[in-house]
This record gives sequence, C-alpha cells and structure tokens, in this order.
Amino acid sequence: MTDTAPERREDETAPESGPTDRFTALGLSESVIKAITALGFEEPTPIQQQAVPAALAGRDVIGQAQTGTGKTAAFGMPLVEKVNPADRNVQAIILCPTRELAVQVAEELFKLARFRRGITVVPIYGGQPIERQMTVLRKGAQLVIGTPGRVLDHIHRGTLLLDKVRFAVLDEADEMLDMGFRDDITEILDKTPSDRQTLLFSATISPEIRALAQRYLHDPVEVRSVHRELTVPLTEQVYFEVRESEKIEALSRLLDLSEGGRALVFCNTKRNVDEVVSQLRARGYSAEGLHGDMKQSQRDRVMARFRAGAIDVLVATDVAARGIDVEEITTVFNFDLPQDEEYYVHRIGRTGRAGRTGQAFTFVTGREHWKLRDIMKYTKTKIVQRQVPSLADVEEVRTHMFEERLRRAIAEGGLERYVARLERLMLEGFSSLEIAAALLRLQNDEAAGPTEQGGRSRATPGTVRLVIGAGRNQSVRPRDILGAFAGETGIPGESFGLIQVDDDRSSIEVPEAEADRVIEIMSHRRIKGRGITVTR
Ligand code: AMP
Repeated sequence: MTDTAPERREDETAPESGPTDRFTALGLSESVIKAITALGFEEPTPIQQQAVPAALAGRDVIGQAQTGTGKTAAFGMPLVEKVNPADRNVQAIILCPTRELAVQVAEELFKLARFRRGITVVPIYGGQPIERQMTVLRKGAQLVIGTPGRVLDHIHRGTLLLDKVRFAVLDEADEMLDMGFRDDITEILDKTPSDRQTLLFSATISPEIRALAQRYLHDPVEVRSVHRELTVPLTEQVYFEVRESEKIEALSRLLDLSEGGRALVFCNTKRNVDEVVSQLRARGYSAEGLHGDMKQSQRDRVMARFRAGAIDVLVATDVAARGIDVEEITTVFNFDLPQDEEYYVHRIGRTGRAGRTGQAFTFVTGREHWKLRDIMKYTKTKIVQRQVPSLADVEEVRTHMFEERLRRAIAEGGLERYVARLERLMLEGFSSLEIAAALLRLQNDEAAGPTEQGGRSRATPGTVRLVIGAGRNQSVRPRDILGAFAGETGIPGESFGLIQVDDDRSSIEVPEAEADRVIEIMSHRRIKGRGITVTR
C-alpha cells in the first residue's frame, strides 16, 4: 500500500457496522437514515461529518464548502431532523443565490424528508408565477427555500411569515453577496426571531462573509474540509469532459482500448454502482459491484474472482474499496468525481502500485470543473484533458493491437505445424490472402462477442425487430449496436432483446412500446461512423 492509501479496517467494511451506522453515529434518527439509504449514500462526506453533529446540537455553523462536497445534505439532514411536522408554520428559511440552486436544494431536502411524514418543502423563486407560490405557502410549509428577491417579495405581500422561524440557512453566501443580495439578506434575517439557529455555507470566507457571520451567527462552529499534503502515485492522470448520460459509452470505449488488465471503477453511491454494473453487463463486459451493503462473504467472493482475472471490471464505492488490495490494477476510473480531494488520491492510489505505472481516468461534467481544479491544486498534479475516443478510434486501436499480436506470434516462430495445415488448405485452391482474411474475420466476430445464431425470424414477444443497414462487412459488432441503441435512446441495455449481425445488415429487438421513438432517434445517428437506416 502506498502511504496515502487508507488502512484496511475490517470494522469499516464489515456489514454489521454497515453504512447506516456511520450516519447514526452523527446523531441522525431512523427516518432520515432510511432516506439516506434510499439515496444510496454510504458514509458522510467530511463536511457532513463535522457539520451535522454541530447543527444537531443546536450550534450555529460556518461551513466552508463548495458544491459537490455534500453541503446541501450537511444542513439538510439536521433540518429535516429538527423541524416539527405537527407545526405548519415556516420553521426554516434557506436562502440561495439562484433559482437553479433553490430547486436543487428543494429536491434534495424533499428526498431527505421522504420518510418523515408531514414535512412540506417549498421552493420560491423569481420567474415562477407568484400566485401559485402563494397558494402553496398558504397551505403551510416548514421548509422554504428561496432566492432573496422573491422571498422579500412574499414577505412584503404578507404571504410569507418568518416570525416562527427556528432555522436560517445561507447557502453559497459568497455568491449571494457577489450578486448584490446583501441588503435583502439582512432584511430577511431581521424578520426572523433572533434566537434562531443559523447555518452559513460559503466556498470562500471573505471579510464580508465574516462581517455577516459576526452580525447574525452566535458563537459559530467553523467546519471545512481539511487539506493535508497529498502525494499522488506514479499514475498517468487524464480527464474527459462528458455529459452524465455519455459516461457509460465513454467508459465502454476506454475499456475497449485498454488491453487486458484490471479496471476499477469508482462511483459515489451504491445505487450508481448497481446501475453501472448492469449497464456494463448489458454491453457484454464481465463486471461486478462492490459496496457497503454486501455481506463480507459476498465481497470475498467478488474479490477472489477479480484477483483470479475472472472479472474485467470491478465497480465500487469508496467505502467498499477500502478493503481492496489487488496488485496490477491497470486503470482506475472515476465514473463520478469524488466528493473530496483526499478520496481522489485514495482512489488512484489503487493503481500504479509497486513502481508500476497505471492510468487514472476521470469523468467530469460541465459544472464540476472547479472541483477538478481543486483536486489538481491540493494534489499538486496536472490532470490532462483528452477527448473520449470515437468508435473509429476504438476499431483502429483494436485492429492495431491485433496486428501487433500477429507480428509477435510471427517473430516467436514455432509455426511449422500451422504452415503445414495452411498448405493443405491452399491445395484446395484458396490463396494465402483469402485464408488470412477469413481468419481475421472469424477473429473479429469472436472479439465482438457472442451472436445468437440460427436465424430466428420472429421477434421475441413484446419486442419489435428493427433492421439496421450495416453489418459484419462494415465491422459492426453486437456490442456496437447495443452501445449505440442504449446510449442514444437512454433505454437500459437489458431491455433490448436478440441482436443479430449478418454480412451487410443486422437487427435488434427493441421493446414494442418504444419502437417508434427508437426508429426516430436512431435514423439520425451513426454506428461506427456511418449513417444507418433503421426499419421495422
Ligand atoms: P452538494 O455538495 O450538496 O451539491 O452535493 C453534491 C452531490 O453529492 C449531490 O448529488 C448529493 O446528493 C450527493 N451527496 C451528498 N452527500 C453524500 C454522501 N454522504 N455520499 C454520497 N453522495 C452524497
């Protein structure tokens, strides 16, 4: 293990002290834990670790945290825990700089409150008809999330009363000040009882933020993710900018390009682990998941198979990966960008062990760029950007790798036996070029994965067979078809039926109800770089 890798602690990976315990330890009760379990969180993020107990204890909190650190849940969990469902008055007011953030925060709070009956969460922001918001507010809501301007508007109209507020949250306080909401914020806070509990989150703690805190927070606890010196192992670090929906396709292509070796894919939640595993399997990879909910015996079984090389891809959460010590992991994928820089280092510490070089591939979506910059800053390394390889690149490299293997085999010699056989075939009138070409095609078919043979002409019940105007001669393989159809339509891979590839055409069974939509989408798309016709 490298010195930065977390030590192996059985008590952390054993299911008996499972994921929920790590949240229970913060002081959260059953209904919130149930919501966390449904969200698939395995352990509190560093900011939650510090902020939740303080907030539950009634302390004011200044949290230095950016988006992506789990800050919303850091204040959301204690709020949901502490508001009184029996009281319909507004008990918590959460101020956010933008309507997008207000909606996001409301969604997360809604999810966290799912198992506490009687809690209503209402976002109010400019751009939405104010009358509709009034109707909702009139019915009573304990948690109100809003942008300062619209919140003030409601206060002035008398449709939002803050005199029963027990909690105030300033989310992305620095952003709100930058946007000129200072006076609005103070006016709103002055409308709330002064004995309320106040939580302030901000990416930066400027003198202006300090002044605001001085005025409105009482003896606050300050929490932040602490940054230690982090050493990064000998690993080539690359990032790819992708949309969330493109990640699985990008992962498949990168896996196709890596010759053999073991890949470890990290996700932030066990839900994502399950999702990635099932999507990879649908695309023909042997993938298994590892997460904190699994029994020790299940994990041991998965790990043994991974070590033995029976699994190409292991998909894991950070918690589950703590038990992993496998030599020769060639590539680590950050399918989800980790919530903390330190996790990043732990993750990529799984490759490049013992002086070997490895690769770390990180997927970054547009709004996560700042987080990547933070990771580079604290790890003092450069993560270089690369483009996701195109399908043509994948094909090119695969052919190239095969040619390399051919060259090596020729150089190694010992081919006399095979030469004798070929000579026999050539006596039947075939040219050596023809034989070699046929062998290549058979090899290519095999690499493409199993096709079901037998020429079934009727589709499986509940599905419709769509015909694609490209096949083996255009080097289309079942995996390409499934990848394109699942990737472009968003329909899970396992929902597709039989895939057949013939010389110049192929077919795929798609769910009947989706057939028209699939034809519509796929008629404008390409497989292996070529436009295709899709017909029923
Ligand atoms: P935020 O920093 O609030 O923008 O959160 C970023 C993302 O992390 C959101 O999608 C949350 O649902 C998710 N998240 C929050 N807490 C955790 C956790 N403990 N484990 C995994 N994901 C989390």
